[in-house]
Amino acid sequence: MKYIDEFRDGEVAKGLAEAIRREANPARSYHFMEFCGGHTHAISRYGVSDLLPANVKMIHGPGCPVCVLPIGRVDQAIRLALEQGVTLCTYGDCLRVPASDSLSLLKAKARGGDIRMVYSSADAVTLAQKNPEKQVVFFAIGFETTTPPTAVAIKQAAALGLKNFSVLCCHVLTPSAISSILESPEVRQWGTVPLDGFIGPAHVSTIIGSRPYEFFAEEYRKPVVIAGFEPLDVMQAIKMLIRQVNEGRAEVENEFSRAVDRDGNKKAQQLVAEVFEMRKNFEWRGLNILPYSALRIRSQFAEFDAEKRFPLGYQSVADHKACECGAILRGVKRPQDCKIFGTVCTPENPVGSCMVSSEGACAAHYTYGRYKDVA
Ligand code: SF4
Repeated sequence: MKYIDEFRDGEVAKGLAEAIRREANPARSYHFMEFCGGHTHAISRYGVSDLLPANVKMIHGPGCPVCVLPIGRVDQAIRLALEQGVTLCTYGDCLRVPASDSLSLLKAKARGGDIRMVYSSADAVTLAQKNPEKQVVFFAIGFETTTPPTAVAIKQAAALGLKNFSVLCCHVLTPSAISSILESPEVRQWGTVPLDGFIGPAHVSTIIGSRPYEFFAEEYRKPVVIAGFEPLDVMQAIKMLIRQVNEGRAEVENEFSRAVDRDGNKKAQQLVAEVFEMRKNFEWRGLNILPYSALRIRSQFAEFDAEKRFPLGYQSVADHKACECGAILRGVKRPQDCKIFGTVCTPENPVGSCMVSSEGACAAHYTYGRYKDVA
């Protein structure tokens, strides 16, 4: 298949691994965080870490949209379905995220909640059109990639004059999460998370461009290389990061120039700005409350805001006490450091959010890497 196989070619991978080995200075170590869950998945699936020299380590970051969703937000969606009697629509992975009272959206569905999996926000609008007697709420999660389609859905609902469609908006912003990692005591004060640079996200960057990362490179002296999701993309990005570190540079470089440019998709950015504005505060799983790190619906579109339409106070809820998702999302621990990894917590029975989506660090390690621990 054109444009995919080329980026998975084993012979090229061997050559790149050799080039990385030559590039890496044996007298020092390198620690790079892949921010995005798509990269975590690719690294685990294709065994990229196994091709790296021992002094080049990858750290999983908080870029899996399902993983960073706090329990309190899933609780809100469940309450909408069970207490307000709405038809709650969301993406498949959200359904299995553990919530309070041993519930998840899937379990709430078994209790009689009208909860539907949709493939797009447009499906939720269609459902509202077809069922005018029901209130339909779209539980919108994700980073900058999924935000424009939610904006389109809201504008479409407005154009159609729908009175039974609204959105529970939980869209979050990538640059805020990167800031919080770089400002965290583990990185800044204690040095327990050594961080030499970032692999910048692929899909998110097609929307926001490479410009927003320039601040991090300059301010924190951390190189960023934006990379595509294929294994050779990731390996090339690692090589570029190593070279920057060796040369004492901290710049934004773009390995994914076939899809990302400096300015991103201006039309999508404009659409998002029209429908959403910054929230002052938003709780993330594992990263606590981060200022200006998420979006809410602008007052012009208030009738499509589920938080305004329904009585939905937000309550923060602590993670399961054995779960290490928070530490994993901050890069402090690895999935195998969690005592219940692969025993009590599995993809079939996730205890924490990192075991739910294939982009979650725990699910990726469970699927592709867990036998390495015993080898
Ligand atoms: S193994 Fe399960 S409980 Fe442990 S950190 Fe991962 S998701 Fe959380």
